[in-house]
Formats: sequence, C-alpha cells, structure tokens
Amino acid sequence: MLIEVKNLKTHFFTEEGVVRAVDGISFSLDRGEVLGIVGESGSGKSVTSLSLLRLIPDPPGRIVGGQILLESEGGVVEDLVEASEARMERVRGDRIAMIFQDPMTSLNPYLRVSEQLIEVLELHRGMGRAEARRRCVEMLQAVGIPAAASRIDDYPHQLSGGMRQRVMIAMALLCDPDLLIADEPTTALDVTIQAQILDLIGERKEALGAAVLLITHDLGVVAKMADRVAVMYAGRIVEEGPVGAIFHAARHPYTIGLSRSIPRLDDARGADLVPIPGMPPSLARLPSGCPFHPRCAHAIAACREEAPPPRVVSGEGNRKALHVVRCHVEDVAGRAP
Ligand code: SF4
Ligand code: MG
Repeated sequence: MLIEVKNLKTHFFTEEGVVRAVDGISFSLDRGEVLGIVGESGSGKSVTSLSLLRLIPDPPGRIVGGQILLESEGGVVEDLVEASEARMERVRGDRIAMIFQDPMTSLNPYLRVSEQLIEVLELHRGMGRAEARRRCVEMLQAVGIPAAASRIDDYPHQLSGGMRQRVMIAMALLCDPDLLIADEPTTALDVTIQAQILDLIGERKEALGAAVLLITHDLGVVAKMADRVAVMYAGRIVEEGPVGAIFHAARHPYTIGLSRSIPRLDDARGADLVPIPGMPPSLARLPSGCPFHPRCAHAIAACREEAPPPRVVSGEGNRKALHVVRCHVEDVAGRAP
C-alpha cells in the first residue's frame, strides 16, 4: 500500500466554534490507482488534500487525530502526521506533489517559469543548473508546451491559462512523485483543454506508476479517470467503492442526489437535473446523528440519533472491490425518493 489514511481529523478552531472540516476519514491508495474524492464545496475535499501535505494553516487549523501512513521504496512506513517540518519539505514535491485549483497560487508571477522549475530539481534532486534546465524543457515538452526551450523563460502571465496549468503539472511531475494530488485540476479551463489535461494526468500516471488522488465536484471527470470513488459529506466519507458501483449502484441518498443534481461533461440531461434540497450544514454546528438527515428524504428516527456506522455492500475481503456505505437504511435505492 502506498498511502493509508486512518481516521484523519482536521479541525479549525474559530470564534464560531470548532469547524470539523475533516472528521474521521479513512482511505488507501496503491501505485497506479486513481481515487476520486467528490462532494459539494465545503465537504472537506480540499482540506483532505492539504492535510496529506501538512499544509493546513495553524492557527486556526490542526490535524487533531489519525494517521497518514506513507510507504517508501524500501517498505518503510512513516506517519506524516508525526513527521517534522524539515521531513515534510522533502516529502512535498518529491514523494507527494499537488496540482492546485488555480495555477497562480503555485506559480510565482515575478519569476520566470525556468527559475521556478529549475529550483525544484536543484532543491529535491541536487541537480546542477544545466542538467536541471534540460530536464525541465523535456518535461514541458512532455506536457504539451510547444517551443518549450524558449517558452521556459516566459513569465507566468505571458502564458495562456491552459499553458499555465500545463506548467503547473510539469512542476508537480518533475520529481516523479509517488502520489499526485490533483485538486479540481480543470475547473478554470475550457472543455477542450480540460480533456487534454486529464489525458495528460492519466498518461503520466501510467508512465510513472504514480497514484493519483483526484479531488473534484465533477462526476464526469471522476467517471473518466477514477478506479475508486469516495463521496464526502460534512467532513466524512459517506460512501466509497469502485467507480462502477458508485455510478450505477450507489446506496447513499447523498451520492444518489449528487449524481442527479450535477451537470456532467459526458451527458446532456440538462432539464432533468434534480437539486438536492437544503444546504450543506455548518461544519461548526453539525446536525446530530447522520449529518445528512435534515436534507434526506429517507431519514428514519435513528438517523437523528446515531451516526451510521460503515456497512459493507459488496466486495468484502477485496480492497479494490470493496463498496462501503454509511447509512442506516439498507434499501434506499429500492424505496421511492
Ligand atoms: Fe438519510 Fe438516514 Fe441514510 Fe443519513 S443515515 S443518509 S439520514 S437514511
Ligand atoms: Mg476545493
């Protein structure tokens, strides 16, 4: 197992109270595997990815529980929750790299692309300048930047949005990370560029044997790329399973609602979209029991009182096939919504 997240909790201590942004999530990823994390904004997806990199601003945020177990080549397992800041600086970029939502958050507008990319290799790989530059040009070519040998000396603002996104992907891939985290990698891009970027991530994953954590609210992207899907609601994973099970045999009312409510690149239901009633809860004042109960058409008395424990739907004993749901009601799909 490349990475195993166990009962991770990341809370923010604010004037309104404790915001339980991530509240006890567990998942694991192997090399070559793509796990999609989906959910509405504010469900804890981005806090999850920032937690893995230990980039939660403290204060007000803090990882208050759980483990992030990362295995290295030699089979040694380390818990990133306990790792020193110096160790995390090595891990970031080298073993776990992140493609952020907005390229301008990870590219420095005042530095040429070359300076920013070369620095990564100098820092993490101890490469000399000339060799690092050669490697960076190769990587820019690999991500589809034309005339890379000269574009590498551009400033970020001289590149189009799609090109900046490619530069950021090149930067993330420079050190052959074992885990690539892509947080809404395509939201800011037009549809054609989106498709190209996704193909690129998929292709690089194959070439490098990396694992990918794909964080998005776009179910079409997940359907295209992911092997497994985890659905987050109110800081928890409410359903997780192979991509086919999540799309064709979802068991959690929220997952079912989500797939009816979100427009997708890969279909044209348009007018048939059905929004989920109500709003996601405040993470500082979570509802009792199942946090989805105020919005759920299937809620029974137990839903207000007890948080539903995980229940295996299928695939017991086979991690890759395992389909787990957290819902008190067993046959949601068989009941009228
Ligand atoms: Fe709905 Fe109850 Fe299931 Fe929560 S546990 S999703 S409220 S049926
Ligand atoms: Mg986000």
